[in-house]
Amino acid sequence: LVSRENTTERSVVQVAGVPIGGDHMTLIAGPCAVETPEQTLEAALMAKRAGAALLRGGAYKPRTSPYAFQGLGETGLKILSDVRAETGLPIVTEVVDASDVELVASYADMLQIGTRNMQNFALLQAVGDAGKPVLLKRGMSSTIEEWLMAAEYIAQRGNLNIVLCERGIRTFEKATRNTLDVSAVAVAQRLSHLPVVVDPSHSGGKRELVLPLSRAAIAVGADGLIVDVHPAPETALCDGPQALTHADLAELAHVVTALPPLV
Ligand code: PEP
Repeated sequence: LVSRENTTERSVVQVAGVPIGGDHMTLIAGPCAVETPEQTLEAALMAKRAGAALLRGGAYKPRTSPYAFQGLGETGLKILSDVRAETGLPIVTEVVDASDVELVASYADMLQIGTRNMQNFALLQAVGDAGKPVLLKRGMSSTIEEWLMAAEYIAQRGNLNIVLCERGIRTFEKATRNTLDVSAVAVAQRLSHLPVVVDPSHSGGKRELVLPLSRAAIAVGADGLIVDVHPAPETALCDGPQALTHADLAELAHVVTALPPLV
Protein backbone atom coordinates (compact mmCIF):
# COMPACT_ATOMS: atom_id res chain seq x y z
CA LEU A 1 0.00 0.00 0.00
CA VAL A 2 2.82 2.43 0.72
CA SER A 3 5.01 1.18 -2.10
CA ARG A 4 5.71 3.17 -5.23
CA GLU A 5 5.37 0.05 -7.36
CA ASN A 6 1.83 0.81 -8.42
CA THR A 7 2.02 4.59 -8.62
CA THR A 8 4.34 7.22 -10.00
CA GLU A 9 2.64 9.95 -7.96
CA ARG A 10 4.11 11.00 -4.62
CA SER A 11 1.54 11.57 -1.88
CA VAL A 12 0.73 14.84 -0.19
CA VAL A 13 -0.57 14.37 3.34
CA GLN A 14 -2.92 17.05 4.67
CA VAL A 15 -2.71 17.85 8.37
CA ALA A 16 -5.60 20.13 9.30
CA GLY A 17 -5.18 21.90 5.97
CA VAL A 18 -1.36 21.97 6.06
CA PRO A 19 0.16 19.93 3.23
CA ILE A 20 3.27 17.77 3.76
CA GLY A 21 4.83 16.61 0.50
CA GLY A 22 4.71 18.03 -2.99
CA ASP A 23 7.06 20.74 -4.09
CA HIS A 24 7.63 22.58 -0.85
CA MET A 25 9.29 22.09 2.51
CA THR A 26 7.11 21.95 5.62
CA LEU A 27 8.61 23.11 8.89
CA ILE A 28 7.32 21.49 12.09
CA ALA A 29 8.71 23.00 15.29
CA GLY A 30 8.01 23.16 18.98
CA PRO A 31 9.18 21.97 22.36
CA CYS A 32 10.43 18.44 22.84
CA ALA A 33 8.13 18.21 25.87
CA VAL A 34 5.17 20.29 26.97
CA GLU A 35 6.23 21.62 30.38
CA THR A 36 4.03 24.62 31.19
CA PRO A 37 1.42 26.71 29.34
CA GLU A 38 3.86 29.65 29.19
CA GLN A 39 6.79 27.60 27.85
CA THR A 40 4.59 25.91 25.25
CA LEU A 41 3.04 29.17 24.05
CA GLU A 42 6.42 30.89 23.85
CA ALA A 43 7.92 27.95 21.92
CA ALA A 44 4.91 27.94 19.57
CA LEU A 45 5.29 31.66 18.89
CA MET A 46 8.98 31.11 18.18
CA ALA A 47 8.03 28.32 15.78
CA LYS A 48 5.41 30.43 14.06
CA ARG A 49 7.75 33.40 13.60
CA ALA A 50 10.26 31.03 11.98
CA GLY A 51 7.65 29.92 9.44
CA ALA A 52 6.58 26.64 11.02
CA ALA A 53 3.21 25.42 9.79
CA LEU A 54 2.75 22.79 12.50
CA LEU A 55 3.49 22.68 16.23
CA ARG A 56 5.25 19.66 17.73
CA GLY A 57 5.22 18.91 21.45
CA GLY A 58 5.27 15.79 23.59
CA ALA A 59 2.72 15.24 26.34
CA TYR A 60 3.64 11.56 26.64
CA LYS A 61 7.43 11.19 26.67
CA PRO A 62 8.98 7.77 26.08
CA ARG A 63 12.20 8.27 28.06
CA THR A 64 15.09 5.84 28.23
CA SER A 65 15.22 6.26 32.02
CA PRO A 66 12.06 5.72 34.08
CA TYR A 67 13.35 8.46 36.41
CA ALA A 68 13.37 11.11 33.66
CA PHE A 69 10.40 13.48 33.09
CA GLN A 70 7.64 11.38 31.52
CA GLY A 71 5.44 14.21 30.26
CA LEU A 72 2.25 15.80 31.57
CA GLY A 73 -0.17 13.39 29.90
CA GLU A 74 -3.66 14.78 29.29
CA THR A 75 -2.76 18.06 31.03
CA GLY A 76 -0.11 18.49 28.33
CA LEU A 77 -2.64 17.75 25.60
CA LYS A 78 -4.92 20.46 27.00
CA ILE A 79 -2.05 22.94 26.99
CA LEU A 80 -1.32 22.07 23.36
CA SER A 81 -4.94 22.52 22.47
CA ASP A 82 -5.03 25.97 24.14
CA VAL A 83 -1.85 26.98 22.32
CA ARG A 84 -3.34 25.83 19.02
CA ALA A 85 -6.36 28.05 19.70
CA GLU A 86 -4.06 30.99 20.39
CA THR A 87 -1.59 30.51 17.51
CA GLY A 88 -3.60 28.64 14.89
CA LEU A 89 -0.86 26.01 14.61
CA PRO A 90 -2.13 22.43 14.27
CA ILE A 91 -0.60 19.94 16.72
CA VAL A 92 1.69 16.96 16.16
CA THR A 93 2.07 14.92 19.35
CA GLU A 94 3.26 11.45 20.28
CA VAL A 95 1.17 8.55 21.48
CA VAL A 96 3.01 5.72 23.20
CA ASP A 97 0.29 3.25 24.11
CA ALA A 98 -2.57 1.77 22.12
CA SER A 99 -4.96 2.41 25.01
CA ASP A 100 -4.25 6.18 24.80
CA VAL A 101 -4.84 6.55 21.06
CA GLU A 102 -8.47 7.64 21.31
CA LEU A 103 -7.67 10.27 23.94
CA VAL A 104 -4.60 11.65 22.15
CA ALA A 105 -6.45 11.66 18.82
CA SER A 106 -9.23 13.74 20.38
CA TYR A 107 -6.70 16.59 20.84
CA ALA A 108 -4.08 16.02 18.13
CA ASP A 109 -4.11 16.92 14.45
CA MET A 110 -1.35 14.40 13.75
CA LEU A 111 -0.29 11.40 15.81
CA GLN A 112 3.42 10.75 16.21
CA ILE A 113 4.87 7.27 16.59
CA GLY A 114 8.30 7.54 18.17
CA THR A 115 11.41 5.62 17.31
CA ARG A 116 11.01 3.26 20.27
CA ASN A 117 7.52 2.23 19.16
CA MET A 118 8.07 1.83 15.43
CA GLN A 119 7.46 -1.90 15.73
CA ASN A 120 4.71 -1.74 18.35
CA PHE A 121 2.26 -3.34 15.97
CA ALA A 122 -0.82 -3.00 18.21
CA LEU A 123 -0.10 0.73 18.47
CA LEU A 124 0.40 1.03 14.70
CA GLN A 125 -2.93 -0.65 14.09
CA ALA A 126 -4.64 1.57 16.65
CA VAL A 127 -3.35 4.78 15.02
CA GLY A 128 -4.33 3.30 11.67
CA ASP A 129 -7.88 3.01 13.00
CA ALA A 130 -7.89 6.49 14.55
CA GLY A 131 -8.23 8.22 11.19
CA LYS A 132 -5.73 11.00 11.96
CA PRO A 133 -2.55 11.62 9.93
CA VAL A 134 0.47 9.79 11.37
CA LEU A 135 4.11 10.84 11.64
CA LEU A 136 6.03 7.55 11.72
CA LYS A 137 9.56 7.87 13.03
CA ARG A 138 12.12 5.33 11.93
CA GLY A 139 13.22 2.90 14.64
CA MET A 140 16.74 3.77 15.71
CA SER A 141 17.94 0.27 14.79
CA SER A 142 15.51 -0.43 11.99
CA THR A 143 16.19 -1.02 8.34
CA ILE A 144 14.33 1.00 5.74
CA GLU A 145 12.37 -2.10 4.82
CA GLU A 146 11.23 -2.58 8.43
CA TRP A 147 10.24 1.10 8.56
CA LEU A 148 8.13 0.76 5.42
CA MET A 149 6.55 -2.43 6.74
CA ALA A 150 5.61 -0.54 9.91
CA ALA A 151 3.92 2.05 7.67
CA GLU A 152 2.15 -0.83 5.95
CA TYR A 153 0.58 -1.85 9.29
CA ILE A 154 -1.01 1.62 9.52
CA ALA A 155 -2.00 1.71 5.85
CA GLN A 156 -3.61 -1.73 6.10
CA ARG A 157 -6.20 -0.23 8.46
CA GLY A 158 -7.27 2.16 5.73
CA ASN A 159 -5.16 5.13 6.80
CA LEU A 160 -2.76 6.27 4.08
CA ASN A 161 -2.11 9.67 5.64
CA ILE A 162 1.36 8.69 6.79
CA VAL A 163 4.53 10.81 6.82
CA LEU A 164 7.83 9.00 7.32
CA CYS A 165 10.42 10.64 9.58
CA GLU A 166 14.14 9.85 9.47
CA ARG A 167 15.48 10.72 12.94
CA GLY A 168 18.91 9.15 12.97
CA ILE A 169 20.00 5.58 13.57
CA ARG A 170 22.31 3.96 16.08
CA THR A 171 25.84 3.43 14.81
CA PHE A 172 29.27 3.08 16.41
CA GLU A 173 29.71 6.88 16.28
CA LYS A 174 29.50 8.62 19.65
CA ALA A 175 30.08 12.23 18.59
CA THR A 176 26.42 12.49 17.63
CA ARG A 177 23.39 11.18 19.51
CA ASN A 178 22.37 9.23 16.40
CA THR A 179 23.68 9.15 12.86
CA LEU A 180 21.41 10.98 10.42
CA ASP A 181 20.92 8.56 7.55
CA VAL A 182 20.54 11.03 4.70
CA SER A 183 20.50 8.22 2.18
CA ALA A 184 17.37 6.81 3.85
CA VAL A 185 15.44 9.87 2.68
CA ALA A 186 16.31 9.25 -0.95
CA VAL A 187 15.78 5.49 -0.65
CA ALA A 188 12.43 5.81 1.12
CA GLN A 189 11.23 8.32 -1.47
CA ARG A 190 12.17 5.91 -4.24
CA LEU A 191 10.51 2.91 -2.62
CA SER A 192 7.44 4.66 -1.24
CA HIS A 193 5.05 7.39 -2.35
CA LEU A 194 4.83 8.72 1.23
CA PRO A 195 6.40 12.09 2.15
CA VAL A 196 9.65 11.87 4.13
CA VAL A 197 10.69 14.46 6.71
CA VAL A 198 13.87 14.69 8.77
CA ASP A 199 14.37 15.32 12.49
CA PRO A 200 17.81 16.94 12.78
CA SER A 201 17.31 17.56 16.52
CA HIS A 202 17.06 13.93 17.61
CA SER A 203 19.65 12.89 15.01
CA GLY A 204 22.53 15.07 16.08
CA GLY A 205 21.39 15.67 19.64
CA LYS A 206 23.24 18.99 19.65
CA ARG A 207 21.93 22.46 18.85
CA GLU A 208 24.94 23.34 16.70
CA LEU A 209 24.32 20.34 14.44
CA VAL A 210 20.68 21.16 13.68
CA LEU A 211 21.45 23.74 11.01
CA PRO A 212 24.03 21.71 9.04
CA LEU A 213 21.86 18.59 9.23
CA SER A 214 18.86 20.62 8.07
CA ARG A 215 20.87 21.77 5.06
CA ALA A 216 21.71 18.14 4.30
CA ALA A 217 18.05 17.15 4.62
CA ILE A 218 16.94 19.91 2.29
CA ALA A 219 19.67 19.10 -0.23
CA VAL A 220 18.67 15.43 -0.37
CA GLY A 221 15.05 16.45 -1.04
CA ALA A 222 13.30 15.90 2.28
CA ASP A 223 9.68 17.04 2.34
CA GLY A 224 10.03 18.72 5.70
CA LEU A 225 11.90 19.21 8.95
CA ILE A 226 10.78 18.64 12.52
CA VAL A 227 12.86 20.53 15.08
CA ASP A 228 12.92 21.09 18.83
CA VAL A 229 12.75 24.68 20.09
CA HIS A 230 12.69 26.06 23.63
CA PRO A 231 12.54 29.61 24.99
CA ALA A 232 15.12 28.69 27.68
CA PRO A 233 16.86 25.43 26.70
CA GLU A 234 19.07 25.47 29.82
CA THR A 235 15.95 24.87 31.93
CA ALA A 236 14.32 22.31 29.61
CA LEU A 237 13.01 19.13 31.27
CA CYS A 238 13.81 17.12 28.15
CA ASP A 239 16.59 17.32 25.54
CA GLY A 240 17.63 20.94 26.22
CA PRO A 241 21.03 20.58 24.47
CA GLN A 242 19.36 20.03 21.09
CA ALA A 243 16.68 22.72 21.39
CA LEU A 244 16.98 25.77 19.15
CA THR A 245 16.90 29.26 20.63
CA HIS A 246 15.38 32.41 19.09
CA ALA A 247 18.62 33.21 17.25
CA ASP A 248 19.13 29.66 15.93
CA LEU A 249 15.58 29.58 14.64
CA ALA A 250 15.99 32.79 12.69
CA GLU A 251 18.98 31.21 10.93
CA LEU A 252 17.05 28.00 10.28
CA ALA A 253 14.13 29.95 8.82
CA HIS A 254 16.56 31.60 6.41
CA VAL A 255 18.00 28.24 5.36
CA VAL A 256 14.58 26.68 4.84
CA THR A 257 13.38 29.49 2.61
CA ALA A 258 16.69 30.00 0.81
CA LEU A 259 17.18 26.37 -0.18
CA PRO A 260 13.94 24.92 -1.52
CA PRO A 261 14.10 21.19 -2.24
CA LEU A 262 14.93 20.07 -5.76
CA VAL A 263 11.87 18.88 -7.63
C1 PEP B 1 10.35 13.19 19.95
O1 PEP B 1 10.28 13.61 18.79
O2 PEP B 1 9.85 13.78 20.91
C2 PEP B 1 11.05 11.93 20.21
C3 PEP B 1 11.06 11.37 21.42
O3 PEP B 1 11.70 11.47 19.14
P1 PEP B 1 12.27 10.00 18.85
O4 PEP B 1 11.13 9.07 19.00
O5 PEP B 1 12.78 10.14 17.45
O6 PEP B 1 13.38 9.76 19.84
